[in-house]
Amino acid sequence: MSDPFPRTDGWLHAEAVPLARIAEKVGTPVYVYSATALAERYDALEAAFEGVGHLIAYSIKSNANLAVVHDLVERGAGVDVTSRGELFRALRAGADPAKIVYSGVGKRDDEIAAALEAGIKLFNVESRAELRRIDAVAGETGLEAPVAFRVNPDVDPETHPYISTGLRTSKFGIPIQEAVGAYAEAKALAHVRVVGVDCHIGSQLTKLRPFGDALARVADLVRELRDAGHAIEVIDVGGGLGVVYDEERPPSMREYAAVVGDAVGGLNCEIILEPGRSITANAGVFVTRVLYEKENEDKHFVVVDGAMNDLIRPALYQSFQRIEPVGPPRSELRTVDVVGPVCESGDFLAKQRRLPALERGDLLAVRSAGAYGFTMASNYNGRPRCAEVLVRGGHWAVVREPESLDDLVRGESIPGDLVG
Ligand SMILES: *Cc1c(COP(=O)(O)O)cnc(C)c1O
Repeated sequence: MSDPFPRTDGWLHAEAVPLARIAEKVGTPVYVYSATALAERYDALEAAFEGVGHLIAYSIKSNANLAVVHDLVERGAGVDVTSRGELFRALRAGADPAKIVYSGVGKRDDEIAAALEAGIKLFNVESRAELRRIDAVAGETGLEAPVAFRVNPDVDPETHPYISTGLRTSKFGIPIQEAVGAYAEAKALAHVRVVGVDCHIGSQLTKLRPFGDALARVADLVRELRDAGHAIEVIDVGGGLGVVYDEERPPSMREYAAVVGDAVGGLNCEIILEPGRSITANAGVFVTRVLYEKENEDKHFVVVDGAMNDLIRPALYQSFQRIEPVGPPRSELRTVDVVGPVCESGDFLAKQRRLPALERGDLLAVRSAGAYGFTMASNYNGRPRCAEVLVRGGHWAVVREPESLDDLVRGESIPGDLVG
């Protein structure tokens, strides 16, 4: 896949648009996404699964911007949602409810009802207690809920602990050994219909083996469930395919598809995929402007106007994202920390990086910011959330306006009297 953020005449571009022009017009910090890169990644996954009955249910939590979701939905994507808010976004972006799957460990009654009324394809159920609530809510609304249990195959995905979800000790899913009992309970309920099995073991997986191991266990379970009389038509294999942030060598989409096909391709099921990061991460950059340079003892800091409230991955997961000047380098490289204005020592975008000398006003681009970037942004330290821009070829549009100061206090009030 071609680099959607090439350097042309010394200046970094998003496709054919100079990032400096976007920063000038929209302000900083700003997220910039490449529509072409999103489409290429989506199409590559589609092509890898050609000939296999499948549905790509894009994991909207990785990048939920309406324009991004709309572009993917236009290409035929369904959506994997984890809350009522994400369901709302998916529908607003034009998703077909019949292609929406609902995952997540703590679905509320109102969320279950909203999804039933929308007519979604599948609930991925994470506990027996949740199964009973789904049955009860379905009974009240007079609708039937299509369900799959999210099973926990107890494999180590060998990724960061915060994004590792398939271990026996994780809060997600039900232990695979308890699945037969759970499916028997589901079958006895009046308002749920068992249609499949679901599994998602973690995120940023760079090896194939955990996928293969987990899905081999899922395949065994599907056979066992069929023997017990359940009609299993769908296998949801989750998301989690890793991407290159630094020197990782994640499997290609074709290699991934081969492993999935080997494990569950022979079961005559529709395969649901829930990719997030592998579609969006490297289709986005985060652009921030240099405010100051400072030296404390022998450490050199570059203070920028983007911070952990805008892009929390470095602070939350100690994750590495490449960072580079948007303009041509001015000098030799020095070793610096790139930090934001937030009052936390954890507020950094990059540590101990080699960057050329920078001046106030220079722009830096943080790579691989299309996934879990804006969606994890907050207003911490009274910072309005920044703009998002979508580029296609030589054209671009602001697809989310930056928040205003009034947005920061929207819904708040200073009551004269407290009631109750
Ligand atoms: C987060 C998540 C995904 C997407 O994971 P990626 O690593 O971004 O592909 C898919 N399914 C579920 C249930 C998730 O929680």
